[in-house]
Amino acid sequence: MSHALFENIYVEKRAASDRVTLGILKRLGCDEPVYIDHYKDIFDRKKEGRNLILAHNPGKRLYEGAPVCQSFGNEHFYYSPGVMNCVYDCEYCFLKGMYPGKDMCIFTDLEETFTELEDLERQFPVYVCASYNTDLTAIEDITGFIAAWCERVRDHENLSAEFRTKCSRTDIYSKLPVSDRAIFAFTLSPDDIALKYEKGAPGPAARLKAASAAQEAGFPVRLCIDPMIYVRNWRDIYGQLAETIAGSLDTALIKDISIGSFRISDQYLKNMRKKMPDSLIAQYPYICEDGYYQYPEKVRICMEGFMKEALKKSCGNVSIFDWRS
Ligand code: SF4
Repeated sequence: MSHALFENIYVEKRAASDRVTLGILKRLGCDEPVYIDHYKDIFDRKKEGRNLILAHNPGKRLYEGAPVCQSFGNEHFYYSPGVMNCVYDCEYCFLKGMYPGKDMCIFTDLEETFTELEDLERQFPVYVCASYNTDLTAIEDITGFIAAWCERVRDHENLSAEFRTKCSRTDIYSKLPVSDRAIFAFTLSPDDIALKYEKGAPGPAARLKAASAAQEAGFPVRLCIDPMIYVRNWRDIYGQLAETIAGSLDTALIKDISIGSFRISDQYLKNMRKKMPDSLIAQYPYICEDGYYQYPEKVRICMEGFMKEALKKSCGNVSIFDWRS
């Protein structure tokens, strides 16, 4: 990752002297960022290129999981918007409906999130999706946040965290503090889907290699076949994906696999449809149920059921969750 990723680097004045801010600027080789009053002055503008903004989070640092998120049986399930937006560019990503442009904002006050977590941890076991509005692993060289979270999880027994990623890096896992409560969750799609709709992200074979590296280092690895995208030959390509997984990983070491067909809140889909008038994914005639657009029931039950069976057949006894779990 380099400075070349971003057109400009902005720093909120109140975040200027943070240890995290200074570390990020150093890693990016940036001596002269542009200082601003508030991240929204830049982030809320619609534009094509990508800027980086380092800021303090003025709002909530932990949100309770939405109904369409998988909780994996965890009663107290939260997500942390510590970084907003992603270096990858998946066409189906809800971030396209959530944020106006491609700018990324990194909140440098991660310690404040940890302080808020402490209150919760005192009451019950907490499960946090730490890589929710971004792919945190893909920017680990810039932020060091994965290392900070892993250290935190290792030292706090009432805390578990999931890091969802499409990143292909294999070199970071052996350097991170290992814990069986720090879960690396690799999102996988068939090659065709990845090629067409996951712009900028490494291919599925490279992600599986990274998953294997995480397993070797001792981390629990989750696989996410989510979102499944409906295409004409979906049975062939998703069936093939199940076989590829079985041929690439030690399936006995897979913590679990989650599956889910594409679904999105009505407001995000409206925004995506405006932004992407030619996108087959955005323009598909979904059915709206309880405020969420999804494939018609018959389609989604068929796709998710097929995937479950294909995984059972190729991966044996691995636990499989669907997004309603
Ligand atoms: S990797 Fe995840 S967060 Fe990033 S664009 Fe793709 S779906 Fe969105």
